[in-house]
Amino acid sequence: GFSDLCQRAWVEINQGALSHNVGQLRKLLSASTQLMAVVKADAYGHGATMVARIALEAGAHGLCVATLQEGIQLREAGIEAPILLLGAMNTPEQVKAIAHWQLEPTICTPQQAWIFSETLSELQKTLPVHLKLDTGMSRLGMPWQEATQFVELVKRLPYLEIASIYSHLATADSPDPTIMRLQHQRFEEAIAQLRHAGIKPPRLHLANSAATLADSSLHYDWVRAGLALYGLYPAEHLRNAVELHPVMQVKARVTQVKTIPPGTGVSYGYQFIADKETRIAIVGIGYADGVPRNLSNKMTVLIQGQQVRQIGAITMDQMMLDVSAISDLETGEVVTLIGQDGNLSISADDWAQTLGTISWEILCSFKHRLPRVAV
Ligand code: PLP
Repeated sequence: GFSDLCQRAWVEINQGALSHNVGQLRKLLSASTQLMAVVKADAYGHGATMVARIALEAGAHGLCVATLQEGIQLREAGIEAPILLLGAMNTPEQVKAIAHWQLEPTICTPQQAWIFSETLSELQKTLPVHLKLDTGMSRLGMPWQEATQFVELVKRLPYLEIASIYSHLATADSPDPTIMRLQHQRFEEAIAQLRHAGIKPPRLHLANSAATLADSSLHYDWVRAGLALYGLYPAEHLRNAVELHPVMQVKARVTQVKTIPPGTGVSYGYQFIADKETRIAIVGIGYADGVPRNLSNKMTVLIQGQQVRQIGAITMDQMMLDVSAISDLETGEVVTLIGQDGNLSISADDWAQTLGTISWEILCSFKHRLPRVAV
């Protein structure tokens, strides 16, 4: 009977912003291109089931996940849309589960194709499968030069129905398009070779969020968008393509306020020592919730529409703030770590920049300890 918004800390998911972002992305696509919502890693930390429902309602055609478990979780929640498994599956047990839950696997090698075909023939069940080509990411996929042989092999195997052929881009967020163009060219070449061998290509897809925003010639039949759904831009130079709204906000409450005299050390290791009388607030969120400890003494948060400095080492469940500038602060006051308060906002990009990482990693870092609250 305890409302999530009464908790010491939580993650807010703005459903309207998510629908808006889906709409913005769809506006970029021609009528023949469908949007696949990438909801792996619990929808980049936003909550996969909630995000999947909203994205589908806003016009996404299907969903992409990385793992079998992620796919099953969506099916158990009653979601019936197509679910593409981006990860590689190598065992008969995995094939059986995929068939049982009507998930759509990625096949990257002849070995995988044989395991799938054999297991499916035992089950007497045909599955749509998606063939992955490596055009330069050097991650999953058959080398693009071998596309025709690979497709011919899979076509000969019973119980496999090739639903799409796809590849993934390594540098779509770079302002220098050289490598992206090369991968695009290799993908085109592989398709041309298929046609030359008398094979009509199935559905094709290549674009992540960055490529979706960068260039419509990369859209093909599907785009697989993750980051942009969540309202973040993959790169600065792609900001003017569409107007995206951040979906996630991270908030916590003040749990105690006190004044410390000059010379007082704050938190483990005394990484902060007050040089004057300082009013501090203790906040109920820490690194076990997913706030990186490396942000200690480097981050600011928002209280009452004002920017406030975090001081001392961030601890497992709590952190301290210098709130000397805020006159009437009480226990229970809401602190915004990521999100908007009044005219100010702090984004996952800001954290990523301070930490030398990317916003994708920041979004994925918030733990299940923080309830996800739809707003
Ligand atoms: N496609 C594949 C194969 C991926 O692995 C990912 C995520 O990394 C995406 C699409 C979505 O990428 P983004 O979040 O940059 O849109």
